[in-house]
Amino acid sequence: MANKPVIGITGAYVFHNKFMEGTYVHHDYQKAIAANGGIPIILPFLEENLAEEMIERCDAILFSGGEDIDPSFYGQDPHQKLAETTPLRDKWEIVLLEKAMKKKKSILAICRGVQLLNVALGGSLIQDIPSDVKGSIKHSQTVNRSWDSHWVALEKGSKIETILQAKKIRVNSLHHQAIDRLAASLKVTATSNDGIIEAVEHAYYGPFLLGVQWHPESMAATDEIMNRIFAEFIKNAK
Ligand code: MN
Repeated sequence: MANKPVIGITGAYVFHNKFMEGTYVHHDYQKAIAANGGIPIILPFLEENLAEEMIERCDAILFSGGEDIDPSFYGQDPHQKLAETTPLRDKWEIVLLEKAMKKKKSILAICRGVQLLNVALGGSLIQDIPSDVKGSIKHSQTVNRSWDSHWVALEKGSKIETILQAKKIRVNSLHHQAIDRLAASLKVTATSNDGIIEAVEHAYYGPFLLGVQWHPESMAATDEIMNRIFAEFIKNAK
């Protein structure tokens, strides 16, 4: 009976007060996975020796959004506009990604997730788009996260173009950081009009691997095209 794929979602660490601290994942991720036939489970960061067993129990892994990645992981000092970081989560997710790729799991990396993917594979990040990218558009939208706010051009023949069947799409945008130096094993497959990298795929990893800078999980319920990202990810989860 148990034949729905199990999708592990990496969790953020949230500290409310001394009585309330723990793992947090926006509910839209869970809903998008469940709506497309997957069983979502949340993966908290714990001791690294648990990473491999956690990965083995999942059919696919979703690297979710959240905090800024500590710049020490790509060899930089902190920018004045660097937001909150959780270095223990960063370290844990780098190990998790390595184990997931070794076990040939399907991988979807969203927002912070695509940045994590790039850093784990040797790339670096723009620490603050408004300060560091001249003429940049607003990537921290103020409208509801389910609304689109800017254009993205998709690379012909890429995985994301094949899934969405479009040359240009409208995406939501909730990030102040982005990929800077691209990891050698990744390919850029979508960019915004100001040149920010908005999607990547892997050059030679066999299983499904897609990274997007926007939040399709928050558009999927109302946007059939955006929902295809989840449909495709879960279809490839076994
Ligand atoms: Mn954006």
